[in-house]
Amino acid sequence: MAASTTFEPVLERIAEEVERTPGRGRPAGYIPALAARDPRSFGMAVAEPDGSVYGVGDWRRPFSVQSITKVFTLALDLAREGDALWEHVGREPSGNPFNSLVQLEYEDGIPRNPFINAGALVVTDRLHTRTGDAAGELLAFLRAESGNPGLGFDVEVAASEEAHGNRNAALAHFMASYGNIDNPVPVLLDQYFRQCSVAASCADLALATGFLARHGIRADGTRLLSRSQAKQVNAVMLTCGTYDAAGEFAYRVGLPGKSGVGGGIIAVVPGRCTLCVWGPGLDERGNSVAGVAALERFTTLTGLSVF
Ligand code: GLU
Repeated sequence: MAASTTFEPVLERIAEEVERTPGRGRPAGYIPALAARDPRSFGMAVAEPDGSVYGVGDWRRPFSVQSITKVFTLALDLAREGDALWEHVGREPSGNPFNSLVQLEYEDGIPRNPFINAGALVVTDRLHTRTGDAAGELLAFLRAESGNPGLGFDVEVAASEEAHGNRNAALAHFMASYGNIDNPVPVLLDQYFRQCSVAASCADLALATGFLARHGIRADGTRLLSRSQAKQVNAVMLTCGTYDAAGEFAYRVGLPGKSGVGGGIIAVVPGRCTLCVWGPGLDERGNSVAGVAALERFTTLTGLSVF
């Protein structure tokens, strides 16, 4: 992996600016395994389509990937079943919190989009039906694309998710009552909690997201998604990828992005590069405070955005 001289100065400047920022938000408190993180940790990585990667700060330190995994399971399922997936999950921003139940009743158990928890549960369920091991499929993909065979599940985080999983269980049971879940709910939840528990670094995730900058092509040159499907995943990230603050994220950053409550955010400049930033302190919508600020500075300083 070669270092890029193009992005090196801008990443260092961003890290210095982030270091001087006083408020960093608070780590997610819903499970103890995440609450213990230091909100002042910060890392950022940029990967180019040829696999070059450069970073700053804690860019090689693993963190809890959480909802960022929803991008990869979406891509893996879309690659297998194509447009039939969209009969089971929508593509509209929800405007509600990530774990909300309310819209499901009005929309016959069809979640608004694949990045809220309800939608991600549907995608994982369908991927599990097709592969027999959705979480294993995800992990194999992340290992291959990042070139890091050491990536794995964090069993402590997965156990903690399960112990505090009533909301996700309610979502899954509710959708099952509409016939929109195939697998037994406990099987699906086990897959979903393991999926969320993957630990990976900014370098790993910037590289693993590369197929979205390469218009659907994997690191080994084979095609995962058609060019149109890669465009579709990027579009859903832009409109739905950062909880109920996707409009604000598009306004400030101007890139497709997906955040997770572990404090990571991935972002894509199609054709040019992928980014991953990590700062465990979250704002009230669940997005990393340092992460959004760093991505905003990146697109401002480099002029790279989709607009
Ligand atoms: N495992 C978390 C949950 O389902 C994911 C939260 C997130 O990153 O948005 O509650």
